[in-house]
Amino acid sequence: MLDLAIIGGGPAGLSAGLYATRGGLKNVVMFEKGEPGGQITSSSEIENYPGQKAPGESGFDFMSTWWKQCSAFGLVHKWANVVGVRKNSDGSFEILLEGGKSEQAKAVIVATGSTPRRAGFKGEDEFFGKGVSTCATCDGFFYKNKEVAVLGGGDTAVEEALYLANICSKVYLVHRRDEFRAAPTTVEKARKNEKIEFITSATVKEALGDKMGLTKIVLDTKNGERVLDVPGIFTFVGLNVNNEILKDENGKFICEMADGGQVKTNLKMQTSLKGLFVAGDIREDAPKQVIVAAGDGAVAALSAMSYIESLH
Ligand code: FAD
Ligand code: NAP
Repeated sequence: MLDLAIIGGGPAGLSAGLYATRGGLKNVVMFEKGEPGGQITSSSEIENYPGQKAPGESGFDFMSTWWKQCSAFGLVHKWANVVGVRKNSDGSFEILLEGGKSEQAKAVIVATGSTPRRAGFKGEDEFFGKGVSTCATCDGFFYKNKEVAVLGGGDTAVEEALYLANICSKVYLVHRRDEFRAAPTTVEKARKNEKIEFITSATVKEALGDKMGLTKIVLDTKNGERVLDVPGIFTFVGLNVNNEILKDENGKFICEMADGGQVKTNLKMQTSLKGLFVAGDIREDAPKQVIVAAGDGAVAALSAMSYIESLH
């Protein structure tokens, strides 16, 4: 039986792992289906984590040392996709893994974060990976010296539009309103960038192309239809929390949830189910920041350790 199972290896899961192992827990496994690091590894730039030696480095570079530090203290990474969490009758937990295997643990921290949402326009799924992308750092280079569109008005859309403007010949920033959610300073920076054209109060009606991929997008704007001849569109329209593993076999959540699908928690990161903790983007009111996710992870680990101690 594991002392602690951590599900998700982003900033929240890694910080939880660091605190739990360094705090003396011996049998701690972090279940992560990919490389540790989380969604920030897809970001072109991070500059708001206190103490960064190189503000502005890529999210991938920024996260590259976190796993090394955790493994030095004994955290084990199990490369696995978790499909469910069940509470056993003795109070322990079963972690169900894809493929049918499972593991038992005294306590669980769920830090599965969130994933990019689809915008829902016609052709989005058809051209996903063939012109439609949700990761500028991963795919931006394919559009070197070409024109691209970015969809969205949050921090991610505006920051990634700025990143793409360094690579592409032109970036159309398409947003459905005139007001932006993104930080005003970031919007200001984008407005000053000659390569970025703002198209506001506009939505994508359709993506069109051929078997080679996307060739154009059709917009609905306040002045009527407008066609952009672009081989790439980057959609940054928000995130969905990864909460599926918290559903039981009947599709009911095993702990109390908030309306938006996030997990309700107190300041100790305890959920309504004893022994189950959450951290990071998955919890209610998460500001969706690396520093907060990391802080949550540390709090969740300390709470989980007290809980495990109380079992003796
Ligand atoms: P995540 O980082 O989402 O990590 C969750 C991990 O869980 C993932 O690695 C995933 O593979 C794993 N996982 C999910 N489900 C399962 C499963 N069933 N089984 C096993 N593993 C699973 N924040 C900032 O502070 N500054 C920024 O500049 C900034 N820029 C950003 C730019 C972009 C493009 C994006 C997308 C986000 C940005 N953020 C930024 C937000 C920040 O990345 C997140 O708030 C933070 O990563 C959340 O951490 P987390 O650990 O909760 O979740
Ligand atoms: P977000 O803040 O939720 O913004 C999503 C944007 O997409 C909004 O502008 C929204 O429009 C638009 N949108 C939503 N659905 C749409 C659709 N179907 N079609 C067209 N447009 C649609 O998402 P995000 O930018 O990914 O940011 C997520 C979180 O991470 C935020 O809390 C953000 O602050 C944080 N983050 C922080 C940083 C940083 O600190 N530097 C960087 C990146 C992200 P409306 O505005 O009209 O709703």
